[in-house]
Amino acid sequence: MTGGSRGVGLATAKLALQHGDRVAVLARNIDEAKLRAELGNDVLLITADVTQSDSVSTAFSQIDQQWGGIDVLINNAGLHRGGKLQRLATEDWEAVLKTNLSGPMMCIRNALPYLGAGSAIINVGAVVGLRGFPGDSAYGASKAGLSGLTQVLAIELAPKNIRVNLVIPGLVITEMTSQLDAKALDKLIERIPLGRVGQEDEIAQVIWWVAGSTYMTGAIIPTDGGMLAQL
Ligand code: NAP
Repeated sequence: MTGGSRGVGLATAKLALQHGDRVAVLARNIDEAKLRAELGNDVLLITADVTQSDSVSTAFSQIDQQWGGIDVLINNAGLHRGGKLQRLATEDWEAVLKTNLSGPMMCIRNALPYLGAGSAIINVGAVVGLRGFPGDSAYGASKAGLSGLTQVLAIELAPKNIRVNLVIPGLVITEMTSQLDAKALDKLIERIPLGRVGQEDEIAQVIWWVAGSTYMTGAIIPTDGGMLAQL
């Protein structure tokens, strides 16, 4: 589970542990005391940066040594940097693409030797990867790319019986979205048919269910309160 140290990733790690799964949490900053308090002593905590191939390669090899293979890879680590194109710093564009698109590609490539038949990859997308939202050119492009990557790899990996799917969370209040002011938040909520933001565990439930859905691959699964269904 990349980006399992907080937000949606932490909720998913918790849920998987409740179901008796073995879980490895990867993030750049691991607060061991806090995460052990949240997740218990069985979780494997690994400091890793998904933008660095060496870091990712070491992490997956460590998981393999510990448990002998990987059944599910969840590419959840994400970075948001907003700003209309003329004002968007090139470094921000690059950091977002590196984290949200090249990161999952690198994780999948490095995890593949350890993923056997029947295993699953879940990428975490975003509504703005399928619909235009002003100010989200970098983030939207990265998540649109992830959608394409999901479908290509679903086909490429199907002969190995490795499934690849994309779960698309709607708006969830986490560190990533915590800077939205009340006005912006109200405007966004107006566009959600269910009339409220999602909870981290509501996204986690879908990720966990997709991981075990043995006849689903190449699918795009919105969990967004109806946002994508709206004109
Ligand atoms: P979050 O609270 O900001 O958590 C992001 C996680 O990713 C953290 O664990 C962070 O830990 C990790 N991370 C970031 N860059 C990393 C890197 N280079 N290498 C390894 N780990 C890295 O975000 P969230 O809201 O839970 O988002 C989770 C996923 O859902 C993301 O892919 C996001 O794009 C997607 N999503 C979120 C929303 C929403 O409304 N919240 C909506 C749609 C999609 P470190 O910083 O310590 O590395």
